[in-house]
Amino acid sequence: MSTPITVAYGDGIGPEIMEAVLSMLREAEAKISIDVIEIGERVYNKEWSYGISPSGWESIERTKVLLKSPTTTSQGKGHKSLNVALRKSLGLYANIRPCTSYHPVIENKFDRFDIVVIRENEEDVYTGIEHRLTGNSYQCTKIITRSGSEKICRYAFNYAKRHNRKKVTCLTKDNIMKMTDGIFHTAFDSIAKEYPDIKAEHYIVDIGMARVATEPENFDVIVTENLYGDILSDIVAQTSGSVGLAGSSNIGSEYAMFEAVHGSAPNIAGKNIANPSGLLNAAVHMLIYIGQADVAKLVHDAWLKTLEDGIHTADLYKEKKSKQKVGTKEFAEAVIDNIGKKPGILPELIISNGVSSKISKIQGNCEQDYKVRKLVGSDITLAWDKSSNFNQIVKLFESSNPKVIAIYSKGLAIWPGDSKSLSDQVTCRFIANNEKKTITNIDVNNLLIKLERNSFDVVRMDKLYLYDEKEGFFS
Ligand code: NAD
Repeated sequence: MSTPITVAYGDGIGPEIMEAVLSMLREAEAKISIDVIEIGERVYNKEWSYGISPSGWESIERTKVLLKSPTTTSQGKGHKSLNVALRKSLGLYANIRPCTSYHPVIENKFDRFDIVVIRENEEDVYTGIEHRLTGNSYQCTKIITRSGSEKICRYAFNYAKRHNRKKVTCLTKDNIMKMTDGIFHTAFDSIAKEYPDIKAEHYIVDIGMARVATEPENFDVIVTENLYGDILSDIVAQTSGSVGLAGSSNIGSEYAMFEAVHGSAPNIAGKNIANPSGLLNAAVHMLIYIGQADVAKLVHDAWLKTLEDGIHTADLYKEKKSKQKVGTKEFAEAVIDNIGKKPGILPELIISNGVSSKISKIQGNCEQDYKVRKLVGSDITLAWDKSSNFNQIVKLFESSNPKVIAIYSKGLAIWPGDSKSLSDQVTCRFIANNEKKTITNIDVNNLLIKLERNSFDVVRMDKLYLYDEKEGFFS
C-alpha cells in the first residue's frame, strides 16, 4: 500500500530539484502517492498571506507529511513567513539537521564528523512578540517553557538511542539568561537521567559553537533552543562542503515536513545546475519517517556511490577530485543508474530495525511544579527623559506598599547608587512593604494609577511572584 504525501515544488530552483528527487524515488520504487500543492511566490500573489492556499492546508491535514522545496521569501508588505506558519500551525516542535563529512570524496577542512543538530522549533525569540517601547527602545520577548524544553530534550535523547548515538550536547546561555536558558538546561539535566547509557554534556553556547566549528569530530547529537539552533545548523551545514547537501526534518506529534537546508537560489534557477542532494537527503528522512527505511537506504547508498564516482554538480565540482560535471537532471540519472549499488569509501546508511522518526508519544511535563504562588511586587518600565528625576519616584514610593527598592536602566541599577548610564526607559522595582510580604492585583493597579497621576509614562508592567518562596524573577 502506498503512503500519501503532499509535495510542494516551491520557487527558484525548487521545481528542478523536486523533479530530480521524485524521479529518483520513483525508480527506487518508493511506495508513495503524491498530492501536489502550490506554495510560495505565486500563492502570495494570490493574496493568501502565508503563501499557501486553503486547499494546500487541506492536503497537508489529510496526508500529514509534506516534502517541500524552498520558497522565495516575499519582500512585499503584510506577507508572513511560510515556514514559520507551517511550523506553528502543524506543531512541528523539532527541527533535525544531520550533517556529515563526505571526506575524502568531497573536499572538506575536517576529515571526519557526523553531527545531528536538534533545534527547538516553536519557542524562544521566534514567537515574534516584539514591541517598540519608546522613541529609542525596542524589545523582543523570549518565551521558553519547561514542557517545550523537556519535549525537545527527550526527543534528542530518544533520537540518540534509536540511532545508536553515544552523546547528546546541550547548548544554552544560562550564565546570562538564568530563567529562560536556565529552565532549558534544567530540563536537559533531568531528561538525561532517564538515559544513563548516553553521555550528556553542556556548553555555554558561545564556546560550544566555537568548538563545533573547529573540532566537529568531538560532537554527536546537539540539542539547543530555536535561535542558537538556527545559527548552529547553518554553521554545521556549511562545514560539510556545500550548502546544497544537507536536508532537514521538522517533526511534530502529528505532522512532519521535510526540506533542504538551502533556499530557493534564484541566482541559478532554471539553469539545470542546482544540486538536488539536500532535498534528496530530506526525502531519505521522510522515507524513514513513513516506515520505508529499505527504500531510504537504497536511494542514499546510490547517491553516495554517485558522489564517489566523481559525478558532481557545479557546486561540488573540483578539477582534481571530480570526474564529470553534470546538471541537476544528469545527476539524478546517475543516481538512478547506481540504484542497488553500495558505496565503497563512504559509510552506508545504517538504519536499525524498525527505526522511524515518527514518535507521537513524546511529551513535556505540563503539570504544575509548585504549590503556592505569591505576588510580591512589580517591575514597571517608564519612558524617561532628561527632565524626569528619580527623587520624585523615590519620594512618592519610598514607604508606600509596595515600595520602590531599585531603578534599573537596561538591567543596570542606577538607583540606589549614582550610575550615569541612562537610556530613554527605566524599570522601577516595587516590592511588598507589609507584614505579609505580599501584594494584590489592586495594589499593582493603584501603583499604575499613582504613576499616571504624577505624569510618569508607563510603557510596560511585569508582576513579580514567588513560587513556593523561590523567586520567579531575576534579581
Ligand atoms: P540560498 O540558499 O538560496 O543561496 C545561497 C547560495 O547557495 C547561492 O549562491 C545559491 O546559488 C547557492 N545554492 C543554494 N542551494 C543550492 C543548490 N541546491 N545547489 C547549488 N547551489 C546552491 O540562500 P539565499 O540566496 O539567502 O536565499 C534565497 C531565497 O531563499 C530567499 O528568498 C530566502 O528567503 C529563501 N530561503 C528559503 C528557505 C526555505 O524555503 N526553507 C530557506 C532559506 C532561504
